[in-house]
Amino acid sequence: MELYCELCCLPFEGRRCPVCGRKAVRGVEPEDLCFLTEQEQIWAGMLADVLNKERIPCLRKSVLGAGLALKGGVMMERERFYVYFRQLPAAREIVEGLGI
Ligand SMILES: [Zn+2]
Repeated sequence: MELYCELCCLPFEGRRCPVCGRKAVRGVEPEDLCFLTEQEQIWAGMLADVLNKERIPCLRKSVLGAGLALKGGVMMERERFYVYFRQLPAAREIVEGLGI
């Protein structure tokens, strides 16, 4: 059975979360939100459109990328996408299909 880390929103196999190393994890549930991908905004908009067309609900969270610290202050805003575990395989296929 796959496990799920609530801190990282990540399903995984094995004993510990591969991201934070936590062992206090539980079995993954179909309705758990799972991290899908992190994209720059131009791709994020496109991905959201396709997920919407495929009727895959997603949660988007803005994060500020490394560009923030660069001289000139170009803010490279990025977005993280989360989807329900039961739809994660389909969502991953979409991301791969887009080549992003
Ligand atoms: Zn974790």
